[in-house]
Amino acid sequence: MRRDIRIEELQKLYTCHDMAKADCGGCHGCSACCQGMGNSVTLDPYDMYQLQRGLGVSPQALMSQGVIEMSLADGLVLPNLSMTGEKEQCVFLNEEGRCRIHSFRPGLCRLFPLGRVYDEEGFKYYVQLYECPKLVKTKVKIDKWLGIPDIKKYEEFVLAWHWLQKWCQELIEQAPDMVREDARKKVATSLLSIFYMTPYDGKVSFYEQFMARRDMFVRQIR
Ligand code: SF4
Ligand code: SF4
Repeated sequence: MRRDIRIEELQKLYTCHDMAKADCGGCHGCSACCQGMGNSVTLDPYDMYQLQRGLGVSPQALMSQGVIEMSLADGLVLPNLSMTGEKEQCVFLNEEGRCRIHSFRPGLCRLFPLGRVYDEEGFKYYVQLYECPKLVKTKVKIDKWLGIPDIKKYEEFVLAWHWLQKWCQELIEQAPDMVREDARKKVATSLLSIFYMTPYDGKVSFYEQFMARRDMFVRQIR
């Protein structure tokens, strides 16, 4: 989900091979970014693949068990992690304030307190200066912070997913007023069914499956 970025946050931009002051040192009992996040922890198809594989459940079960819910994110209907209870906390936060799915947590959780900023050539990372309450952070190499195997392929996927969402947003915005809601519904239905609700094969590379699904989606929507 897009957020407003302050100008000072963009003064230093990084690639995944750079060091950035992002390491909160284990967070020590803080779980601020796992509570009260509303619908902002949007899931991408890689997150969905990881959740299905890690929990061993179907997308339908994730939905019916209240792990994920649907919301409008930048004009598209996409799944996000549910926040529940009085404290509005993530369903995966345990009583000790730790993440129960740390090894396969979603990409936005891995990224925080970093963010990404996109331009025509790709994207860069930046440090979100005002979101994490921990004031003292140490430098860490960004690919190590993310902890995702084959970072090159992952970043190619992140970019491809970004452009696909932009394309969808433009299709909806450019649709004549009378049929804009129909266009939104068509995009939403196909996005959800192709990238989220059709189970992934945990034994096949995610990236292969994503590219095949992307081609199918473009054929269906054009
Ligand atoms: S807000 Fe910062 S210190 Fe707190 S849990 Fe999140 S990353 Fe860790
Ligand atoms: S998945 Fe884990 S890291 Fe992400 S919000 Fe939930 S508890 Fe926090």
